[in-house]
Amino acid sequence: MANTFTFYNTLDRKVEEFKPREEGKVSMYTCGPTVYHYAHIGNIRTYIMQDVLIKSLQYAGYDVKRVMNITDVGHLASDADTGEDKMLAGAKREHKTVMEIAKFYTDAFFNDFDAVGNKRPDVIEPATNCIPEFIHMVDVLIKKGFAYVAGGNVYFDTSKLKDYYVFSSDVEKEQLQVGVRDDVEEDTNKKNKTDFVLWFTKSKFEDQALKWDSPWGVGYPGWHIECSCISMKHLGEYIDIHCGGVDNIFPHHTNEIAQSESYLGHEWCRYWFHSNHLNDQSGKMSKSKGAFLTVSLLKEKGYDPLVYRFFCLQSHYRKPLVFSFEALDSVVGAFNKLVKRISELKEGGVVDEAVKAEFEGKFRDAISNDLNTAMAITVLYDVLKADTNDATKIALIESFDKVLSLDLLAHAKALSNKEDKPDVDPELEAYVLDAIERRATAKKAKDFATADAIRAELLEKGVEIKDTREGVKWQLI
Ligand SMILES: [Zn+2]
Repeated sequence: MANTFTFYNTLDRKVEEFKPREEGKVSMYTCGPTVYHYAHIGNIRTYIMQDVLIKSLQYAGYDVKRVMNITDVGHLASDADTGEDKMLAGAKREHKTVMEIAKFYTDAFFNDFDAVGNKRPDVIEPATNCIPEFIHMVDVLIKKGFAYVAGGNVYFDTSKLKDYYVFSSDVEKEQLQVGVRDDVEEDTNKKNKTDFVLWFTKSKFEDQALKWDSPWGVGYPGWHIECSCISMKHLGEYIDIHCGGVDNIFPHHTNEIAQSESYLGHEWCRYWFHSNHLNDQSGKMSKSKGAFLTVSLLKEKGYDPLVYRFFCLQSHYRKPLVFSFEALDSVVGAFNKLVKRISELKEGGVVDEAVKAEFEGKFRDAISNDLNTAMAITVLYDVLKADTNDATKIALIESFDKVLSLDLLAHAKALSNKEDKPDVDPELEAYVLDAIERRATAKKAKDFATADAIRAELLEKGVEIKDTREGVKWQLI
């Protein structure tokens, strides 16, 4: 790799140079959604920043394989294994089965995930697909003396570890210990306050919909075990980067490390990447507050989901970001101006490779420097101001958009097409576009009579169409 790639590694609490285990290759794991409800725009911010991380690594020349789980069982209302199962709560709320809830919210999640320009992980695995793997890992942990059965459940014994709070400084460790002592709902089966559940049985639920037979009785897996197993199933005994939101650090990621490393007997993951919260003006965005914002809702309100991505890219992933519609509106203005400037660039001409390489270097420096997306966008604006030809600028925008994923050239093209016909009635435009599509379908089916008839029909309405190398163009005559 020509460049040094750095980002903040939560495990060492500092910005570090990234060095994968295997030269040029990155294995990455992402905690996926618990599909009991919609993902809010704060959840989606986390996935946008992970997408930027992956694409930045790819831009720097790495080959990335990424795995994500879908939590469709085992995640209780509190991350510390207390309260009701979230999936069950979702099913009750909507009078549906747990599997119906899982299907509906998995689809809704990926709708929003895709809309903001994210590339889907290479492997996506629902937890309910991996029950035998969970049982195997729990069994090994018991045999190795890291887990015990109590009250019918299986618990991980955190006292067996030298350092359970791997992510925390000494001060934070003290605070966490106090926090754990204050836990209101005490599970008397636990030997230590920090122990967590690997396998639940009937003592933890009354009417759990999904349950499986196991050596410890009919039950279901704990939430944390999912990520360890699914990661190992697809990426092996080592991973380079594990991603999540800052609220996953404790207890979820702490527990993932505890069980994975006890199971494997060696270090599991070297780099931990966490992005910060999105807050609204009343505080942290949360599903428990009732009404919360989703990407689909932004779309319904007329916002382009990619403008939300642009909004996220302007701030650093490690800082909390405050969302307001006023702030989003100002980003809409900036985005439209940017697209307008790009639409004014003229196609054709020869790319100046030296200038292209220079700006690509600056862009790579920005994203390789703890994912400085705001600086990367500044480089984009610098390109537009630069003393070079339009062909070079267009080539650079295309290059940067591999990471930014704002679909800038397509937006610019759509804008110039619109500007070519400023006074066209939208109803007529919709009719013409539909006719062009019908004609293309007819031509594809070699039904040239229909294709010609559509052309004649358009002519009658005063619209002339031309087949060009960039597709079908039309104008009023
Ligand atoms: Zn996880």
